[in-house]
Amino acid sequence: MAEPALDLLIKNVRVVRPTRPEVERGDIGVRDGRIARVAPEIAAAEARRVYDGRGRLAFPGVVDAHTHVGIYGPLAEDAVHESRAAVSGGVTTMLTYFRTGQYYLNRGGRYAELFPEVLKLSEGRYHCDYGYHLAPIAAGHVDEMEALATTHGVPSFKIFMFYGGYGLHGTAGDEEQRRFLMIGPEDHYDLAHFEFVMRAAALIRARHPRLAEHVSVSLHCEMADILNAYTRLVQKDTSLTGLAAYSAARPPHAEGLAVAVAAYLAHETACVNVNLLHLSSRKAVESALTMARAFPNVSFRREVTVGHLLLDVDAPSATYAKVNPPIRPREDVEYLWRAVLEGQVDWIVSDHACCAAETKGAGAGGRGDIWLAKSGFGGTEYLLAGVFSEGRRRGLPLHRIAALTAWNPARRYGLLAKGDLAPGFDADLALLDPDRAFTVSAADSPSGQGYTPFEGQRLTGQVTATFLRGELAWEDGRAVGPPRGRYLRRPTPTT
Ligand SMILES: [Zn+2]
Repeated sequence: MAEPALDLLIKNVRVVRPTRPEVERGDIGVRDGRIARVAPEIAAAEARRVYDGRGRLAFPGVVDAHTHVGIYGPLAEDAVHESRAAVSGGVTTMLTYFRTGQYYLNRGGRYAELFPEVLKLSEGRYHCDYGYHLAPIAAGHVDEMEALATTHGVPSFKIFMFYGGYGLHGTAGDEEQRRFLMIGPEDHYDLAHFEFVMRAAALIRARHPRLAEHVSVSLHCEMADILNAYTRLVQKDTSLTGLAAYSAARPPHAEGLAVAVAAYLAHETACVNVNLLHLSSRKAVESALTMARAFPNVSFRREVTVGHLLLDVDAPSATYAKVNPPIRPREDVEYLWRAVLEGQVDWIVSDHACCAAETKGAGAGGRGDIWLAKSGFGGTEYLLAGVFSEGRRRGLPLHRIAALTAWNPARRYGLLAKGDLAPGFDADLALLDPDRAFTVSAADSPSGQGYTPFEGQRLTGQVTATFLRGELAWEDGRAVGPPRGRYLRRPTPTT
C-alpha cells in the first residue's frame, strides 16, 4: 500500500472562503503545513492522521493585524500569554506595532540595534505566527525605513498623529512627550515628520518594485490640539464622567480632521498605500470616505476594532475600556456596523494591548478614575467570536467575516500564504461552533491581563480548535503544544 499523501485530514467541516459567498461542506487535506486539497470527500486512508471537524465552520486562521504585544509587560512573557489568548480565539497571525520610547523596550536609539533584539526576544515565544509594524519616531528612523523593509521584512510603518502634543493616557505637554518618545532636540514629532515618513515610503516603493504593493503607512488619526482643548473643557465640566467624559475629551471631529490631514499628506507625497487605523466614529469614517473620493490615487484601507464594535460609553466595565480613540456612544457603534455591512470597512482587529488591572486606576471592576487609568486592553481572543456573534445578528455574511478578519489584512500586509482555505495556503484554521453560546469571562482567557472590558457579554459562536500550519495550537479550552509561531518576514513567499 502506498504511503498516505497527506499528513492530516480535517474531515466534515463547512469551509468559509473569503472570496466565495457559498459555504460548502467538505474535507481539508494538509501536507507539509500547507493545504494540499479541499474537496467534498477525501478518503481517510489518504492521510496519516484524521481530525473530525464535526460539521463546524472552518474559517481561515484570523490575521489580527493590529496588536501591541510587549507594550506594558516584558515582550518575552507577553508574547507567550497573549499569543495563547490569540490562538484561543482562532487567531493564527499577530502583527504587533512596535516603537522606541517609553513602554515596550523602554528606550530610544536606532532600529538597526533595537529590532534584532525584538526578534530575539520573540523567538520561540509565540503560539501563533507573528510579524511587526514599526513606527519611525526620531528623524534618523526615516533613513532606516528602507533597510527595515528590505532586510528585516517590515514594509509597514506607523504614525501616531497625536503623540507630538498629547499623552498616551491624557494631557501632556510637549516636553513630557519628548521624554515619552525619547527624542533629541533635533527631532520633531510633527506633521513635517509624518510627511517625511510618507516620502520615504514612496521612495521604497519606487526603488523596490517587488515590495511596492506591500509598503504602507498606517496612521492613528487624532489631532493633539483638539484633544488638549476638549480635555480641559471636559475636566472642568462635572456633568460627564467615565467613558462618556473620555469620549468627549477626544471628540470624533479630532479624528475626522486628522484623517483629512493624513489623506492630503499622502496625496502630496504620493504615498500610495495608507491604512487608517481603528476609526471609531461616524465622523472619522465619513471623513475617510470623503478623502477616498477626493484622492483616488491613494489606496486607503479603513480599519475598525472589535472593541469599538462591541462596547459603548455605557459599558459597565468603565475604565477597563479606556482606549484611544475612545469607546463611543451607541450611535457611533451602530454607524460602524453599518459601515462594516456596506463594505466601507476593510478589516477588523483587536488592538490587543495587555494592560494590567492595577494600571486602570484605583477601584475594582473598572471603577477607577478615567483620567488616571492607562489606555488599551486585550481582546484578540474575542475578535472572531465577537464579529461572528454581533455580525451575524446584523446579517453579515460568513465569507465577509473571513475577508474582514483574515484575507484583506493578509493581502495588504504581504502575508501571501495566509487568509484563505485553498491549496497552497498555510493550513491555518479556526474551527468555530456557530451554535455554542458563551459568556465572556476573563477567568477563561489565557491572557495575562486578568480582566476584560467584555466581561459578561453573551456571544454565540465559539472557537473549538485552532490549527497553525497544520498542527493543533488550541483545542477545547486549552493550548496544545509549545509555542511554534514563526516570524513572518514580509512579503512572505507566495502560495
Ligand atoms: Zn493600537
